Formats: sequence, structure tokens, C-alpha cells
Amino acid sequence: MNLDYSADERAFRDEVRGWLQANLPPDMRDKVVRYAHLTRDDLIGWHRTLAHKGWIAPAWPTEWGGTGWSVVQRYIFEEECGYAGAPPLMPFGLAMCAPVLLKFGTDAQKQRFLPRIYRGDDFWCQGYSEPNSGSDLASLKTSAARRGDRYVVNGQKIWTTLAHMADWIFCLVRTDPSLERKQDGISFLLIDMRTPGITVRPLILMDGGHEVNEVFFDDVEVPVENRVHDEGKGWTVAKYLLGHERMNTARIGTSKRELEQLRTFAARQRKDGKPLTDDPRFRDKLSRLEIELTALEITNLRFLDQLRGGRAPGADVSMLKIKGTEIQQTLTELMLEAAGPIAQAIAHDDGATGDGMIAALAPRYCNMRKTTIYAGSNEIQRNIIAKHALGL
Ligand SMILES: Cc1cc2nc3c(=O)[nH]c(=O)nc-3n(C[C@H](O)[C@H](O)[C@H](O)COP(=O)(O)OP(=O)(O)OC[C@H]3O[C@@H](n4cnc5c(N)ncnc54)[C@H](O)[C@@H]3O)c2cc1C
Repeated sequence: MNLDYSADERAFRDEVRGWLQANLPPDMRDKVVRYAHLTRDDLIGWHRTLAHKGWIAPAWPTEWGGTGWSVVQRYIFEEECGYAGAPPLMPFGLAMCAPVLLKFGTDAQKQRFLPRIYRGDDFWCQGYSEPNSGSDLASLKTSAARRGDRYVVNGQKIWTTLAHMADWIFCLVRTDPSLERKQDGISFLLIDMRTPGITVRPLILMDGGHEVNEVFFDDVEVPVENRVHDEGKGWTVAKYLLGHERMNTARIGTSKRELEQLRTFAARQRKDGKPLTDDPRFRDKLSRLEIELTALEITNLRFLDQLRGGRAPGADVSMLKIKGTEIQQTLTELMLEAAGPIAQAIAHDDGATGDGMIAALAPRYCNMRKTTIYAGSNEIQRNIIAKHALGL
């Protein structure tokens, strides 16, 4: 097993690093590092910068704008973006809908949607979860009844990230409620968010931010040509897409940057007249976190080495999701501990101390609770590992 980058891969990393230094606008980086809320314009602006460079969709086939990079190069690129403080790329179009269209879409669907996703013309969201159908997704009830060349959609989605910014939503709907097996009779529809009958209502998270929504469908008419794959084959599409979703959750580069921020900040904080990093209990926690992050990185490299050798990802993806999100949460816990009571006070005084890390820290701590829930909760990921890796 080879866990080192080759000379070519190191040269590629330097190229990406250099380009990011020259092209990531400092004010954008500042927003990311300070955990400020990013607007639709921020997200689309950075998307278009990368699209212009030709680096927005590395994993796509080259005929659709993919870069032709190896899996290792793709990983290096993602980690360098996270480490540099680049805004996250919204995965819903690029890394969820597009792979589905590439695998299951008709030529007309590919021609219609892929170039728009690439350029950042359409902002997408994901309509999977429903009240009472989260972990047990296959029990979903939103119905789509066929009327000639249209489906009429009725029901409700929930936790729909950025639906209030979205132009399109991809949805799992039930086209045949008569079938006994709940995974059967589900279809995958692409729905224009401007269609009459769609209502988006905000759900405010515990950090006070508007990130997720409820989406209601009342007699929403969707052309049959917007169905991806055969009618009733939506569960096959859903499973394919979930694998892609979980590949994107480890965020190792971002955690490395935040760990550095934490260490620098803790070294400046005083406890009993000494730097907090001299406190054995705090130092112990910091070291444990660093070891966990290094272990995650090595696990990821091991996993990449398998992919390099042509082996398909298995339950490993679930391990990355669990450890990656636990580390993200521990980072915010230690940041809060290092900041102490001032974290709450300055949460409403963004930048007053001139320290990017602690500005908005308390809301960020609250916000990061989500990471072990979304993209399939960590309990569900453990079930997957138990079943597929341990054979329990
Ligand atoms: C911030 C955020 C953004 C999200 N964005 C989207 C989005 O854009 N689109 C979308 O479709 N969905 C989205 N989701 C929904 C997310 O996928 C679900 O919340 C998640 O799948 C869990 O489902 P649930 O909330 O219904 O909880 P439930 O499934 O009711 O689970 C409740 C608790 O029980 C545990 N549990 C459930 N079943 C089992 C089991 N079999 N074994 C062990 N433990 C179990 C769960 O781990 C959890 O702790 C988002 C969620 C959050 C928090």
C-alpha cells in the first residue's frame, strides 16, 4: 500500500495551491473563515470562477467538462480548497443530480440540464426526506399520479437545504402506492421550483440561521419527460445518489485549517497566567483530536489507494462520514472551550476582537450538530458498517 503522493501529485497540489492563492477573493475567504453566512451570490460567484477555470466538475466525464483527473488529484483539489478557505461547492447539482443524469438520464435530459449545472445557471436542492421518512426513506408518501403526459404531485418534503434559493428540486415520489414492498413504486422527478402549487417555508435551525425548509406540493404538474430512469425505478436512483452524497462529508482540508486556527488561538488564551496550550488537560484533548484527524486522513488515503487500484468504495465511505463529522463537532467544542464565556458575548459582535475564529463561534457550535444527522445519520452509517463490513 502506498500512502505517499507521487512527485506528479505533489506538483499538482502546488499548482492548485498557487491558483487558489491567486484567485480566491480575500473577502470571500474571510467570510468562510469567520463562518459568516454565504449568500446565493457568494456561492454562485465562486462556482462560476471555478467553471471558468474548467475545474468545477472534476468527476464528470471529460466530454461534459470533467478534468480527467485521477481520484487522488480530485481528493487533493477538494482538500486544498477546504484548506485555503474556499466557499463550499453546493453538491446538489454538481455531485448529486449530475451523476444521476449521467448514469440514468436520457440524452435530451443530459443536454438540457448538465451544461446549466456546469455554468451555475441553475441552483438545485434535494427533495428526499419527509416527515416520518428520514432514516426510513423508502416509506416516503409524496404522491405523483399520472395524468396523460404529466404527473400531479402532492405531499411534503422536509429539511430541504437551500430550497429557498433553488431553481430546481430533484424529488423521490411514489408513483404506485399499491405495491407491497415499500422500495417499489418510487420514481425520481426533476421539478422546476417556479411551478404553481409549490410552497417553501423556512425552518430556523438552533443557530438562528435559515438553511433548511419545508417544501409543500399541492397539485403540482410535472411533465413526464422530467422523470429520470423508468417509472418505479426511483429507489435504484436514490441508492446510487446516496453513495455520492456520503463521499463528500469528511472535509479533511477544512478540519486541518480549523485545527491550526484552534491551536494558534489556544496558544494566545491564558489560563492561570499561562497559555492554554500548556494546560495538560486541554493539550491532551487537542492531541487526541489531531491524532483522530491524522488517522482519518490516512484512512482516506488508504481508501484512495484502493480506488486507484480499481476497487469500488464499500462501507469505507460510511467510516469517513462518521469520523469526519465527529471531528468537525469536536473542533467546535474545543474552540468553545478555548474561548470560554466570551464566545457567547462576541457571537453578536462579529469581528470586534479582530479574531476570525471566535466570531460567530457559539452559533457555529450549534450549527455543527447537524453534521451527524444529515446525509444519513451516523447511527445509520454504523448499521451499514455492521452489515456490510463486519457481516453482522
Ligand atoms: C441540516 C440538515 C440538512 C438536511 N438537508 C436535507 C436535504 O437537503 N434534503 C433531504 O432530503 N434531507 C435533508 N436532511 C434530512 C436528513 O437526511 C434526515 O434528517 C436524516 O436522514 C434523519 O432522518 P430524520 O430526521 O427523519 O430522523 P429519524 O430517521 O426519525 O431518526 C431519529 C433518530 O433515530 C435514529 N435511528 C433511526 N433509525 C435507526 C436505526 N434503524 N438504527 C439506529 N438508529 C436509528 C437516527 O439516527 C436519529 O438519531 C437534512 C437534515 C439536516 C439536519
